[in-house]
Amino acid sequence: MARIADFQRNKVYSWERVTFTSDEHYKGSLTLEECKELAAKMYGARVVVKDGRGRSHAGACVSKRVATITLPIWARNPLVVAHEVAHIQNYRFSKDSSAHGGVFMWFFIELLSKHCGKDRDTLTKSARDFGLRVAMPMGYVYKQPEHSILQVANL
Ligand SMILES: [Zn+2]
Repeated sequence: MARIADFQRNKVYSWERVTFTSDEHYKGSLTLEECKELAAKMYGARVVVKDGRGRSHAGACVSKRVATITLPIWARNPLVVAHEVAHIQNYRFSKDSSAHGGVFMWFFIELLSKHCGKDRDTLTKSARDFGLRVAMPMGYVYKQPEHSILQVANL
């Protein structure tokens, strides 16, 4: 599948480390069940747990009917859950949207402010000061996900 270049991926990872390393939301302290509940709240859809093995990173994957988040044990924290749900929202907004681009960042910050008690303006400024693009998705209107199922894979 042709995708636009993932131009700011490494910078997003660095910003997360610098901004959240000492943050309670960045510690892998949630159970898989709690991750499922949080992801479902963020995503607005039912969550199904899927067993699997072999991944070292967290990840998000969207197919026609199912959106899947994979969470290794280290990744079971609110920040990673928000990061992965933001990938799904970014992809749903536009399949051509850069994976860690400005629109992804907008969704990510939106989730952190709605569900993790962060201040949107502070995070947006911090990201921009770090050199990241944050771009409001033009014409975005929240719709119930077309995927009725969000899976969280158990790794
Ligand atoms: Zn990512």
